[in-house]
Amino acid sequence: MNDTPTPRGRIMLVGLGPGSHAHLTARAREAIAEADTVIGYVTYIRLVADLLEGKEVIKKSMTEELDRAIEAFERARQGRKVALISSGDAGVYGMAGPTFEVLFQAGWTPDSDIDVEIIPGASALNTCAALVGAPLTHDFCAISLSDLLTPWPVIARRLDAVAAADFVVALYNPKSGRRTRQIVEAQRLFLRHRHPDTPVAIVKSAYRPKQRVELTTLSRMIEADIGMLSTVLIGNSNTFIRHGLMVTPRGYANKYDVNSGATRDGERAGRSLSTGLDGWLASLRASGSSAQELAAEHRLPEDYIAALLAEAPDADNATPDTEEATA
Ligand code: SAH
Repeated sequence: MNDTPTPRGRIMLVGLGPGSHAHLTARAREAIAEADTVIGYVTYIRLVADLLEGKEVIKKSMTEELDRAIEAFERARQGRKVALISSGDAGVYGMAGPTFEVLFQAGWTPDSDIDVEIIPGASALNTCAALVGAPLTHDFCAISLSDLLTPWPVIARRLDAVAAADFVVALYNPKSGRRTRQIVEAQRLFLRHRHPDTPVAIVKSAYRPKQRVELTTLSRMIEADIGMLSTVLIGNSNTFIRHGLMVTPRGYANKYDVNSGATRDGERAGRSLSTGLDGWLASLRASGSSAQELAAEHRLPEDYIAALLAEAPDADNATPDTEEATA
C-alpha cells in the first residue's frame, strides 16, 4: 500500500450543443481540456476529435449508456478527471441521469471524493428552433419517441395529452432504422386534436455538415425524410409559416395590429392583454352558469370549477400589476 492520498476525482457532464464548434460553449471546451479521460458515443467523440489529443478516449455504442456512466465512475474513483460528453444538453435525454443513478447506487454523495459538474449545452429543441424561425415562443413540450426504455402506452398517453392541451411539441428520437411506426402513431394521435395543416418542421443534423430543414404539415409529415438525427417540431393551433419561417405567436390574444398601427388598450397600459386569472374568475361568477356548463365551455374539470365558484370572491384581490410577459 502506498500512502499517497488519491487525488479528488471529477466527472464533468459536458453538453456539446448541436455539434459545431461555433456553438460549443467556452466552459464545455475548457472542461474537455481539463479532462484526462473523455467518454462518449462514437459520433460525439468524432464531433470534438480535434480537442482530444493526449487524452484517454473511450468510445461507446449508443446502447451502452450505463456502461459509459460506470466507466466514468470507475475512473473518477481513481482520481481521474473524466468528461462524459453528450450532444445537446447532458441533462436532456442525456448522460446526466444514468450517471447520477450509478453514483447513488455506489453510495456517492455530493460531499464524497468525486466532484460532479454539469456543463449545459443548447439542446436540439433550441438549435432546431433557431433554424426554422420562432416555433417555441409559447408553451412547449419535449417527447422522445424512443420506446426502448419507456413503454409505448406511456408515450402515447403523453402525446395525446399534449396534443389536446395545444402545446408546441419537439419530438426527439422520432425514427430509426428499426423504429419506424412510432412517428406514424404520433401523427395519428395529433390529428385527433389538431388541424391537418398545422405547421411541422423537421430538422436533421442541425449545425452539422449534413443539416437539412424541411417545413411541412401535420398531415404530410410522414412523407418527409426523418431519421435518428432529426427533431420534429409540431406547431400549436396558432403557429404559422411565413416567408419560410415557422412562428408561434407569444400570446393567444391578438396583440399586434401592425398594419393599422393601432395598439390595444392593454398594450398601451403595459398590462396583460388577456383578462388573466382574476378577470376570468370574476367572469365565471358573473356568468350565472353551472359548474358543469363552465367546465364544458373551458374544457376544465368540473370539480375544479366547482371549487373556484365555492370560494369567497375576495379570495383573489385583483391588484393591477404591470407587465411581466415581455422578452
Ligand atoms: N441530449 C440531446 C438529445 C439526445 S437524444 C439534446 O439535448 O439535444 C437524441 C435525439 O436528439 C435525436 O434523435 C434527435 O431527435 C435529437 N438531436 C440531437 N442532435 C441533433 C441535431 N444536431 N439536429 C437535430 N436533432 C438532433
